[in-house]
Amino acid sequence: MIIVSFELVIIGGGPAGATAAKIAAEGGIKVLLLEAAEEGRYKCCAGGIPVSNEEFTPIPHNVKEREITGGVLVTPSSGVMQFEAIGEKNRGYCMFRTDFDKFLIDLARDAGAQVEYNYFAKHIEIRNSKNIIVKGIPDFETKCVILATGLGGARLQRGVGIEVPPMINGIQAEFEIPENQLNESFGNKIWEFFDHNIVDHGVGWAFPKLNAVSIGVLGPNAKLSHFNSFLKYKYLKDKITNSEMLNFGGRKIWAAPIPDRIINKPYREKIMVVGDACGVADPVLYEGIYQARLSGKIAAQVFLQAYEAEDFSDNFLSRYHKQLLNLLYDDNLKFAYKIHELLYHSGYLEEIIDAVYALTKNDTEMRQAVTALFSGSQTRREIWKVMMSRKWRLMRKMGVRTGLKLLPTLLKAIRI
Ligand SMILES: Cc1cc2nc3c(=O)[nH]c(=O)nc-3n(C[C@H](O)[C@H](O)[C@H](O)COP(=O)(O)OP(=O)(O)OC[C@H]3O[C@@H](n4cnc5c(N)ncnc54)[C@H](O)[C@@H]3O)c2cc1C
Repeated sequence: MIIVSFELVIIGGGPAGATAAKIAAEGGIKVLLLEAAEEGRYKCCAGGIPVSNEEFTPIPHNVKEREITGGVLVTPSSGVMQFEAIGEKNRGYCMFRTDFDKFLIDLARDAGAQVEYNYFAKHIEIRNSKNIIVKGIPDFETKCVILATGLGGARLQRGVGIEVPPMINGIQAEFEIPENQLNESFGNKIWEFFDHNIVDHGVGWAFPKLNAVSIGVLGPNAKLSHFNSFLKYKYLKDKITNSEMLNFGGRKIWAAPIPDRIINKPYREKIMVVGDACGVADPVLYEGIYQARLSGKIAAQVFLQAYEAEDFSDNFLSRYHKQLLNLLYDDNLKFAYKIHELLYHSGYLEEIIDAVYALTKNDTEMRQAVTALFSGSQTRREIWKVMMSRKWRLMRKMGVRTGLKLLPTLLKAIRI
């Protein structure tokens, strides 16, 4: 059988894979991007992105459906707490991943990458010191593989001896609402609901698009029953009365995993793992699109260097991991894990949110840090520093007894 050869094969056409494919193709490489789904597949995702995504490439207006200019936090005791994003760097967009991912794949194709939809990579065979074969129909031969399969490629990943990140579950649906009604009910803000009665991690969301809103819940054991009762939540139900759930691919309610932690070694000889597959999503608000694209970009750049050096060894590809830690972990993910620990593992999620919001009223620095939690305009390290410099004030706001009960988790978070 004739096996077609490519210099680089990327498996998975989400933001991580498409970004990697574009950059490698721009470097003059013969790249193949393989995607299991059909063109324009639905991806279960709230579709909120900070403007920093435009560092990679400007996003067309028809793709970014709604500009986001602020946020709303909802807790049982404080109810609805709104804030406005000040300055361009604090803005964001909400969009459908169907349009966004197709846009990114088209960019990769325009740059020269060959794209195969409806191709399911079954297995990766490392034959000898030179070749690697991606088994599917047909098979492809390559010098190096970038695995960008999200959390759907666990078998493939384990098959080449690379660990799979721990994950939690998200459940969501898109509700169709006329634009004027949506403007009134949700505005240009993303809504985050924090309440342990919703689901174990206590997080629900409503992310408005142009004529629709993504509504969902997430947690380690999130189930359909949590999602259904969230739709009846007192700060949400009136906003979606009489609206219909949209149907994508024959389904209205979708569930998908989100990674919780970065894996220890996202590379080996001839293979690099990017995006959700490598666990780079930020577990504060569970965003992973920007991180997926950045990891895809770094992997493609390291590939170009390895190609030049004709060296795809474990040692050479460790450069990918070093840069990932440097650009994504040291100032961001490491501190996101600390914030995550405090919020989701202290048992005081709602109380922390209430106290933080109360401080923002007379504290500009704190207000900026809270906005940056959503927009990414400050690193997680900077946000953590602001929070820690006010830790005693925050604990007093929570009430001394509750504040003291938070201490063990705080100490644990500091040690992360
Ligand atoms: C409910 C929910 C809400 C979310 N909301 C947000 C949000 O608002 N903002 C944000 O930034 N992030 C959000 N995320 C996270 C975000 O969706 C992911 O971090 C992001 O999609 C990761 O991109 P990726 O390219 O790594 O993986 P994916 O987008 O999952 O893409 C992987 C691709 O690989 C393909 N694939 C898998 N296996 C194979 C195979 N064997 N062969 C060929 N192709 C294969 C899949 O079909 C898929 O298209 C959310 C996630 C969930 C579940």
